[in-house]
Amino acid sequence: MDQKNQINNDFDYLLILDFEATCEKNVKLECQEIIEFPVVVLDVKNQQILDVFFHHYIKPSVNPKLTAFCTELTGIKQEQVDNGISLQEALAQLTLFLEQNKLIGSSFTFITCGDFDLGNCLRREALYKKIEIPQYLKNYINIKKVFPKQYYPKQKKEGDNRLPDMVGMLQGLNLKLDGHHHSGIDDSKNIAKIALTLLQKGFKFNKNMRAFSNY
Ligand code: AMP
Ligand code: MG
Ligand code: MG
Repeated sequence: MDQKNQINNDFDYLLILDFEATCEKNVKLECQEIIEFPVVVLDVKNQQILDVFFHHYIKPSVNPKLTAFCTELTGIKQEQVDNGISLQEALAQLTLFLEQNKLIGSSFTFITCGDFDLGNCLRREALYKKIEIPQYLKNYINIKKVFPKQYYPKQKKEGDNRLPDMVGMLQGLNLKLDGHHHSGIDDSKNIAKIALTLLQKGFKFNKNMRAFSNY
């Protein structure tokens, strides 16, 4: 292993998280609720996505019935959320997962694709339901914001200043989209591949790249 790599990276582990939430086409729900909660672990020093990952379906309480649109988009079935756990329980399980895998005590950061997951969705639902959020989920790196311009997909037109989305980042790195786009676990694994490929190209994820959720 390259020693320089060890010294220059601020994090031992990158925890890639991509929530799926209740939704309806062209409707803003009063409380959008998390229904899929996956976390994929990337070992920075060994440049490896770990086989062990965190994954739970969550039972929504405000809108317990999934819309056909939501099931179509995410591939998540009613039965999976009916058998799911509560958000509060999932948060407790995540802390246990991080302890059992010796992640708590190491240096890690969460990585998301956009600000929706940890900047918006979890924060709003936690406020609505008065759920306490662990401190470690209150900051994250939005990979879209730090993704190097040199790897932007070629199709992007000159003067298009939008940040690349997951599909664009995969294309720009010549990676294929595995699984079902908008499945939380498949999205997390695809985002993890993007992060891993950047590491392999010498990219460093730094503490100063983090955004903080103010709540
Ligand atoms: P994503 O991580 O891109 O799969 O999206 C996360 C969540 O955002 C989904 O579970 C939906 O609740 C919502 N969402 C994503 N795309 C759409 C869309 N086209 N229309 C409505 N909601 C969406
Ligand atoms: Mg997402
Ligand atoms: Mg997703």
